[in-house]
Amino acid sequence: MDLNFNDLGLDEQYLQAVDRLGFQKPTPIQSMAIPVLLEGRDVLGQAQTGTGKTAAFLLPILQNIQPGIGCIQALVLAPTRELAIQIAQEAKKIAQFTAIRIATVYGGQSYDIQIRELKNGVDMVIATTGRLMDLIRKDVIDLDQVHYLILDEADEMLEMGFIEDIETILTHLPNVEQKGLFSATMPKEVRLLANKYLVKPKEIMINPSNRTLEEIEQRCYFVRQDGKFAALLKILEMEMVQSALVFVRTKMRAQELADDLAEQGYAAKAMHGDLNQKQRESVLLSFRKHQITMMVATDVAARGLDIKGVSHVINYDIPDDPEDYIHRIGRTGRAGCRGNAISLISKKEGERFHKIESFSHQTVIECAVPSRGEILAKRDEVFIQRLLDSMKNTDLERERAMVRQLADRDFSALDLAAAAFNLLRNNESPLPEEHRSPEKFSHGERSLKNGSLKEVSHISKKHGSSSRSKNKGEFSEHKQEKGMVCLKMNLGKKQGLRPGNVVGTITGELGISGKTIGKIHIYNDHTLVDVSENHVQAVLANSNGSYKVNGRPVYLTRVE
Ligand code: ADP
Ligand code: MG
Repeated sequence: MDLNFNDLGLDEQYLQAVDRLGFQKPTPIQSMAIPVLLEGRDVLGQAQTGTGKTAAFLLPILQNIQPGIGCIQALVLAPTRELAIQIAQEAKKIAQFTAIRIATVYGGQSYDIQIRELKNGVDMVIATTGRLMDLIRKDVIDLDQVHYLILDEADEMLEMGFIEDIETILTHLPNVEQKGLFSATMPKEVRLLANKYLVKPKEIMINPSNRTLEEIEQRCYFVRQDGKFAALLKILEMEMVQSALVFVRTKMRAQELADDLAEQGYAAKAMHGDLNQKQRESVLLSFRKHQITMMVATDVAARGLDIKGVSHVINYDIPDDPEDYIHRIGRTGRAGCRGNAISLISKKEGERFHKIESFSHQTVIECAVPSRGEILAKRDEVFIQRLLDSMKNTDLERERAMVRQLADRDFSALDLAAAAFNLLRNNESPLPEEHRSPEKFSHGERSLKNGSLKEVSHISKKHGSSSRSKNKGEFSEHKQEKGMVCLKMNLGKKQGLRPGNVVGTITGELGISGKTIGKIHIYNDHTLVDVSENHVQAVLANSNGSYKVNGRPVYLTRVE
C-alpha cells in the first residue's frame, strides 16, 4: 500500500499540521487506521513501537470532534505520565491549526492546575487512569460528552494491572460512540478486553517488518549471571555508544545498574516507577537531549516513549516474552540509522533466549566478550585518534618548546612521548585480569577455545563447532520447518563484511524476507550463511557480483 496523507480523508488543517510535523507519507498503521476511524468504526490496532500509532488515532479523532465547544468529547488513556505528556504534545501539534483545546491529566502534578484547565473548557483529555479516577471521585470532570475513547499501549495498561480502573472509567462514559484500542503487542488479555468492549472492530495488525529490524545488528553474549556487569563494561569499551537504552527486569536492578555504571564514569541514569514525577521527567529529558548516554529502564517505564537517536539497546536481562524483545530492540535502528541490539544471556536465560530467536526469526549473532587484548588495542586506537585530532586542531607551540628544552637535556623525543602517553592514560580504568574473567563463558568461550575457530569474529552458536557446520542433520535440528543450505561468500571480516551486508547480499534485489536466512558465520576471509532451501536457486542465480562491500563484489557458492 502506498498512500499519501491526502488520500486518507483528512481535512486541510490536518494535512497542513502533518506537513508541519515533517511527515511525508503515512506509516502502514496510519494508512489503515485513519480512514476507518474517520468512518466511525471501532479499531483494534497493533503495530510495533515507533510506527506512528499516536498520529494514527489522534488525526482522525481530532478531526471527528467539534472544535471549541468546550466539553470533553475525546479521551485518550495512557499507561504512564510520560506517555500521556508525549501524546498530548503530539495532539497539540496536530491540532495547531484548529481551535481544539487539549488538557493532560496525570499524577504528580497539582490538582489545582489540572482542575482549572478543565474548568476553562477542553475538547480532548489525555489521561493516566489513576489521576482520572481521582478527578472522577472528586467530581471535577464531566465525561458525559465523551464520544471517542482511545486506549493507548493497551498491553502495558493491562500488564500494569489497570484493568479494573479502565472498567470503572468506562462506566463513567455513558455516551461513547467509538473506541480504539492500540497496542504494540497483542496478548490474550488485550484481545479479551477488545472482545468485551469494542463493537465489530476493524482489526489492523501490522507485522514487524523485516526492513526496520534489518537496520539493527543483533548480537548476544553468553555470560555468567554474576559476571554480567563485568561483561557489559568490556563490551561498552568496544562500542561507539551515542545513546543506549538498557533494559532490566526490576526497578531495583535498574537503579543498581545505573548507579554502578555511573560509578564507572558512564553518564547513566535509571528510569523506573519508584522515582517521582520530577525525577522521571528530568531523566527522560536528559536522555532525550543526549546529556546522559545511558538510560537503564524497566520495560514498563520505557514503554511507548519515543526517543530519537538510540544507537544501542542493551538487554541486560532477557525478557520473558519474545514480543517484548522485538519491542525493545525496535527502539534503535530508526530513521535509516544503523542500530545495535546487545543481549547478555545467563545460563538460566539461555532457553528463553532460544525461544525468542525461533519465535521472532531473528538473526542473532553470538559474540565472545572482548578480551583484555582486544580492549587494550581499542583503547590504543581511541587514544591515538585523540592524539592525532589534537595535533590537527590545537596550537602546540608551547609544548614544542618544552620538548626542545628537554631534548637539549638529552631526553629522546621517543622517551618523552612515551612518558607523556603514560601520564595521560593514568586515569584509564584498570583492566580486569584475563584469568579472572568468569563472564567469558559458555558458547562464546568454548568456540574461541576451539583451535579451528580462532579467527571467527562473530560466532553463531549453532555453529559452535565448525566440523559440524556442514552437516545437514545439524541444520535440520534447529530449523525443522524448512531445510537450510549452507552457502559460502568470498568476503569476510578482513574485507569489512558485516552481518547487514550478508542479509543485504541475499535479500537485496530478490525481495525475499530476512526470515529465509539462518545462521551467519563471518570468518576472516570468507563467510558461511544458511539460506532456506526454497530460495537457494534464486539466491545463487542472483549472485553475479553486483552487490559490493567496500567496492568488492560478493559472490556466493554452494558448500558441498
Ligand atoms: P508508536 O506509538 O507506534 O510507538 P509514535 O506515534 O510514538 O509511535 O511515533 C514514533 C515517531 O515517529 C514519532 O517521533 C512520530 O512523530 C514519528 N512519526 C509518526 N508518523 C510519522 C510519519 N508518517 N512520518 C514520519 N514520522 C512519523
Ligand atoms: Mg505509542
